[in-house]
Amino acid sequence: MNRPLLEVMALKKHFPLRGGLFGGVTGQVYAVDGVTFSIEKGETLSLVGESGCGKSTVGKAILRLIDPTDGEVWLDGARIDKLSASQLRPLRRRLQVVFQDPFSSLNPRMRVRDIIAEPLRNFGLANGAAEIEDRVAKLMDTVRLPRDAMRRYPHEFSGGQRQRIGIARALAPGADLIICDEAVSALDVSVKAQIVNLLSDLQDELGLALLFISHDLAIVEHLTHRVAVMYLGKIVEIAERRSLFANPRHPYTRALLSAVPVPDPLAQRDRIILTGDVPSPINPPSGCRFHTRCPYVFDRCRTEEPLLRDVGDGQKTACHLDELPALRMLPQAA
Ligand code: SF4
Repeated sequence: MNRPLLEVMALKKHFPLRGGLFGGVTGQVYAVDGVTFSIEKGETLSLVGESGCGKSTVGKAILRLIDPTDGEVWLDGARIDKLSASQLRPLRRRLQVVFQDPFSSLNPRMRVRDIIAEPLRNFGLANGAAEIEDRVAKLMDTVRLPRDAMRRYPHEFSGGQRQRIGIARALAPGADLIICDEAVSALDVSVKAQIVNLLSDLQDELGLALLFISHDLAIVEHLTHRVAVMYLGKIVEIAERRSLFANPRHPYTRALLSAVPVPDPLAQRDRIILTGDVPSPINPPSGCRFHTRCPYVFDRCRTEEPLLRDVGDGQKTACHLDELPALRMLPQAA
């Protein structure tokens, strides 16, 4: 049986808190606390949740920009979370990233040609100036930028164009999986849509897999195959896009979805306003981590942690309740 392209198993990342007179460890930040998911070749999985829920930390741990505290990460059947930098190097070209801020992630002193050529040189994928120029020109075509733009510097481009350059750089080494970490969050609405469409086209053309990390469920709806919702370091729901948007089974997913604008101007949707702040990941709540904000909380939730369980059609949710009242989608009275 073919294994998924990416497998993340019980991944944890805890950051030690230091303090006191001697700077000893006084506690832990439980940023990611047992996250499991997989991504098939050519699939997009979106990891969504509020700021601080741990989703970007998951991305960094997969990329080995930080070392996981525990758990396993497998890329195409090879375990990568324990590899040294030199062991990881041949696999690293298959796993690339596009960050939120294209300006700070592109070297302002390098021309676009050299930015995109850098991974080609680093991984020994092109020889000689002519071949590199040719490969860069094709990548400019791929991300729908004019070829002559390769002679310019990052500051000469708009935010959306800079993000296209970042995508070209990620594609250059022949990536199978790109982690897009809030890659469109800083862009204007219309530019966001253009970059999402580009990623979707590239996925079809190149068979790319994407891990799309975002706080914005409205954006992922148009791009993703499946969605994993994170809250306070854990996945609370994971499902196919259609199932999640049509029938969210976790109260937190419902609250996030209730804030997504409805395209039909005559329709209205019950808005679920969560009260209270997201608790600190230094001292997460007992039982269900969402219990301090959940509108449906009952006694069991405060003491017993709900595990992710299958509720049909591959949808999994971590909630003790079997049924939730449906969200309202009613036509407005004339
Ligand atoms: Fe709410 Fe309880 Fe379900 Fe947690 S387990 S989401 S507190 S109903």
